[in-house]
Amino acid sequence: MRIGFIGLGNMGAPMALNLIKGGHDVLGYDAAGHIDADIPQADSVTAAVKDADVVITMLPNGAILRQVTDQIFGIMQPGAVHLDCSTVDVESARLVAQQANAKGLGALDAPVSGGVGGAAAGTLTFMVGGSDEAFATAKSLFDIMGQKAVHCGPSGNGQAAKICNNMILGVTMIATCEAFALADKLGLDRQAMFDVVSTSSGASWSINAYCPAPGVGPQSPADNDYKPGFAADLMLKDLRLSQIAAQDVDADTPMGQLARDLYTQFVEEEDGKGRDFSAMLPRFSGRSRP
Ligand code: NAD
Repeated sequence: MRIGFIGLGNMGAPMALNLIKGGHDVLGYDAAGHIDADIPQADSVTAAVKDADVVITMLPNGAILRQVTDQIFGIMQPGAVHLDCSTVDVESARLVAQQANAKGLGALDAPVSGGVGGAAAGTLTFMVGGSDEAFATAKSLFDIMGQKAVHCGPSGNGQAAKICNNMILGVTMIATCEAFALADKLGLDRQAMFDVVSTSSGASWSINAYCPAPGVGPQSPADNDYKPGFAADLMLKDLRLSQIAAQDVDADTPMGQLARDLYTQFVEEEDGKGRDFSAMLPRFSGRSRP
């Protein structure tokens, strides 16, 4: 397949490389002029997309996505598919898909879970919104870049699944971190805490697979001085998107709102920027009750 790949950052570059290794003809473009010698690059965004069967975007946010799609939808071949793997607001995802369909293009929103490691290893999970036909076109690409692609329904539903998942993740990580900090103050050994909770009803991905306490549980960013991993800034982005969506549809999400507020404080007023999102544990450990 001929693939235009726009946005060759931390996630996009390894995804594009896997598609090349999978035998696809990839032409990349990045506004910052990222050069990866193994990814053929076009001089302009329009040159990258004009002959493509599928155009993949992996961009920072909805505003940039809309700016890029305004530039490319008039140039893409009729019948080509736009596959957006960025994490953006549900409204932008639905708007962009509508505009693509109006130009005779297929459209999928397919945000990912699995981070930079999953992008490099080709083990991402894709949460996909869009038509059956567009999903069928992109299926073989999902199989190369990831280990699972769930078709969640019409356009926007991939983003909806992503922000609901990450709202749960933010909330469970905070709960796990505050419980470890409480356990410390109660004199409970961290290994004992892990052994009990990871096999009891308090278990979650946050403790079982990504334990925020260094030295116990599986290897995680906690064992690497909380270098991301999944940065607190990115968690904050996703929690903000969840609350924008909740407001739009009048959903009551008090825990999601509190998680957003705590990560805002952590990233903007404390030392959370650039640290892994599990660094909430040393944050709680260093505090007293307000
Ligand atoms: P990144 O900032 O490393 O990459 C984004 C790239 O887009 C940059 O290289 C930037 O130069 C490029 N770009 C910006 N504006 C552009 C434009 N107008 N035209 C062309 N290129 C442009 O970000 P990332 O970590 O690769 O994340 C990409 C998306 O994936 C985000 O939406 C993020 O929320 C999501 N995501 C990231 C992770 C992660 O662990 N990094 C995990 C899951 C989802």
